[in-house]
Amino acid sequence: MRALWQRIPFTYQLLGAFAVATICAITIVYAFADWSIQERFRTYRVRAATLQARPLQRFLTSYYHRFGSWEGLSELLNPQLQELPPLEQPLIIADAMGVVFISSDPKLLGRKLSERDLASGVPIRVGAERVGTLIMAIPAGTFSPLEQEFSQSIHDSIVLAGGVALVIALGLGILFVRRLARPLGELRRAAEQISQGKLEPRVTITSSDELGRLGETFNQMAESLQRSEQLRRQLILDIAHELRNPLMIQQSHLELLLDNVVPPTPQQLQTIYEQNLLLGRLVRDLQLLALADAGELQIVRTPTSLRELLHGIVAQVQPTISEKRLKLEAEIADDLPTLAIDPQRIEQVLLNILDNACRYTPPGGTIRLSARTENSAVHVSVRDEGPGIAPEDLSHIFERFYRGDKSRTRASGGTGLGLAIAKALIEAHGGQIWAENAPQGGACFHFTLPYQTVNIKEIPLDVLER
Ligand code: ADP
Repeated sequence: MRALWQRIPFTYQLLGAFAVATICAITIVYAFADWSIQERFRTYRVRAATLQARPLQRFLTSYYHRFGSWEGLSELLNPQLQELPPLEQPLIIADAMGVVFISSDPKLLGRKLSERDLASGVPIRVGAERVGTLIMAIPAGTFSPLEQEFSQSIHDSIVLAGGVALVIALGLGILFVRRLARPLGELRRAAEQISQGKLEPRVTITSSDELGRLGETFNQMAESLQRSEQLRRQLILDIAHELRNPLMIQQSHLELLLDNVVPPTPQQLQTIYEQNLLLGRLVRDLQLLALADAGELQIVRTPTSLRELLHGIVAQVQPTISEKRLKLEAEIADDLPTLAIDPQRIEQVLLNILDNACRYTPPGGTIRLSARTENSAVHVSVRDEGPGIAPEDLSHIFERFYRGDKSRTRASGGTGLGLAIAKALIEAHGGQIWAENAPQGGACFHFTLPYQTVNIKEIPLDVLER
């Protein structure tokens, strides 16, 4: 049954539900009206019987008053009462003790009535004394022709109103279903196209209700799919482009050697080796970014004194900086905490930023490294005295393969992945990284490392103590 229902098109399911709901409502109204009419008529008959009791009550009072007892009354009335048509409630007269001595139902004669029955009857009083009780007959529940006509007319009206309601409900249902089916159909067709790899289709939004919102969400989803697809394609093109260069340099050198055009020289072998190293670095960097994308970047957190780490890096880069006739000024706060970080990864980030600073700062310039605690985080910044970053490049420099200075080739060492990797590593530590142009000139790179890192469970307790 369920399987059958699921096979019926959605629009018919909705129409069916509308029809069933309307028919149910009509049936309930019909049954309720029928019950209500029966009840009303019963109340009416009881009231009528009570009104009719008055003359009989007067007769019984005067009978008792006259004879001083009920003697002779049962012989007079009982035979006549047997001839009455079937009654819903028999006519009963009980004496002062509540014992039935007159009844249209012979089975009740001689029975003692309950207090409740006596209370429902009309008392017969002579002076202050209650000498008996009269319970009037109620005719059987069959309708009189007039009552039947009335009841029938109500039933007919309900059936007619129900029919009209059903037609209106189905009409409204069809309108509603059409309104629902059109955008759903459009959504289904667009989803089908997307599942086939065509990411352009969008649905038209005609309302701001749930359907409208569903359409909007669908369009946003399609938009983001299209964007990721474009990024994926661009990335593949970039990777191919980046790999092609060192490969071609190697290939041309190796061809010359194989064809014995030139004898192998240490210089030539050095070039092939360097291109090989570059390829290796490129592949490693791409692998690291892919792992970061998948959230699988391995961060080996160990309690690390940031002060020591930063001083170590300064000592490490000092010779290169001096060699380039540059100056490095370090301002490292004494109160830097011990943090649960991966020291090698943070060193990688800083070396990359410092390497860029060295490249862009002209001889004689100064690079300033500073580190301090700020808002439950360590804030590290590197400022150089280079030309700064072009405003149009600022928002892109952390993207993969983005090079602001197009003339900077791989031969000069950069893969265009350095800052993208720095961003991935800092974010894996729960920190943030950004760049700006310093007011006094030059580029300034900042990153933060929060005291409490994302995966707090991984950190040994003593690490959190400063
Ligand atoms: P690469 O150094 O291999 O080009 P990066 O990701 O390290 O790749 O840098 C991306 C781009 O950011 C650079 O091409 C350059 O345009 C810009 N950039 C990075 N560091 C600096 C800096 N210190 N001054 C000016 N521009 C910079």
